[in-house]
Amino acid sequence: MQTISTYDFAGKKALIRVDFNVPLNDNFEITDDTRIRAAIPTIKKIIEKGGSPIIMSHFGRPKSGPEDKFSMRHLVKHFSNLLGVDVKLAPDCIGEEVKAMAKALKPGEVLLLENLRFHKEEEKGDVEFSRQLAENGDCWVNDAFGTAHRAHASTAVMAQFFPNDKMFGYLIEGEIESLDKVLKNPTRPMTAIMGGAKVSSKITIIENMLDKVDNLIIGGGMTYTFVKANGGKIGNSICEDDYLEMALAIQKKAAEKGVKLYIATDVVAADDFSPEANTQPAPANNIPDGWQGLDAGPETIATFKNVIENSGTILWNGPVGVFEFDKFAVGSRAVAEAIAAATKKGAFSLIGGGDSVACINKFELADQVSYISTAGGALLEYLEGRVLPGVAAVLGE
Ligand code: AMP
Repeated sequence: MQTISTYDFAGKKALIRVDFNVPLNDNFEITDDTRIRAAIPTIKKIIEKGGSPIIMSHFGRPKSGPEDKFSMRHLVKHFSNLLGVDVKLAPDCIGEEVKAMAKALKPGEVLLLENLRFHKEEEKGDVEFSRQLAENGDCWVNDAFGTAHRAHASTAVMAQFFPNDKMFGYLIEGEIESLDKVLKNPTRPMTAIMGGAKVSSKITIIENMLDKVDNLIIGGGMTYTFVKANGGKIGNSICEDDYLEMALAIQKKAAEKGVKLYIATDVVAADDFSPEANTQPAPANNIPDGWQGLDAGPETIATFKNVIENSGTILWNGPVGVFEFDKFAVGSRAVAEAIAAATKKGAFSLIGGGDSVACINKFELADQVSYISTAGGALLEYLEGRVLPGVAAVLGE
């Protein structure tokens, strides 16, 4: 398989699928350029190796056809500044004029194609559209992990036109390498911390994790579905009654597989879902009427910490309390700190999903964990054990 390192880019036009779907304010200024910054190493490397990068991305949600609001022209200046190259903008992403612009590129020159989603064929994964996109370049580099779970023209379908000239960019390469360290070959013991509000949104991941982990910590709002399923009294705590059976099935499966399951034994109960709520400690299975569990209690935190700090590999997806309210961020902070401590001792830690990433940033521990994945849907699907079309397309699966 080709990689950015092995491929000879000299004199080649490299079509690079990136994720430049950045937020803009009302003045069309970029308010968070993380995604553009993240793509720079791949683009720079290709320039360094004598190639001409042709950048393609979706941007916003244009309804039907071109819309100035979603034009890539809003990104050109900032992108050029970050890259240190004057990026040219194509009027479209396919067609004769674009093809001619691409062809005329000299090594080191960079062309940004207009928004892929100005053509509805992009999201449909249309083969003819993919072919026209492919005509603009000599090779295809997929560096958009955030859209790797979509079988769109630019993210997967166009791979067929580059059977020997396709590869991952550094961003996807890094994501997959880190995820595989956790999912395929973890240093044991391996611990997954699954938090967040609902069992329903995490159930497939939890089931997939049962085949891989030694320890499974279930925290956050999910706790109460499990506690209720076991006959506990949960007051007003969040609960999915449709998932009580499922919770028991997970417990049974965990026991069968020898996975140690950790669920809160004590909680911080609140009289309201609010940052100013009154609180009291409560056993997880005996929460007073009218009160709801919003954070893990001290005994639970001590248990979670001990498990995490003695792990060789850690995956964290979802907070163990309502971390957005400082009063109920104690458990999530303790989890983040324990992950940092384990990482310091040599464990590999991966933080994934918007809320856990927000947590780790809030507690200023981002530089003390091994890897932070920012890919929302694609990450969740990968953790569920699904094959991502954008990954399979490069691997030739
Ligand atoms: P999810 O989107 O499913 O990962 O859920 C993340 C959200 O779960 C965060 O916004 C947390 O505030 C919330 N959450 C965590 N613990 C609880 C809880 N005990 N009760 C209600 N919501 C919670």
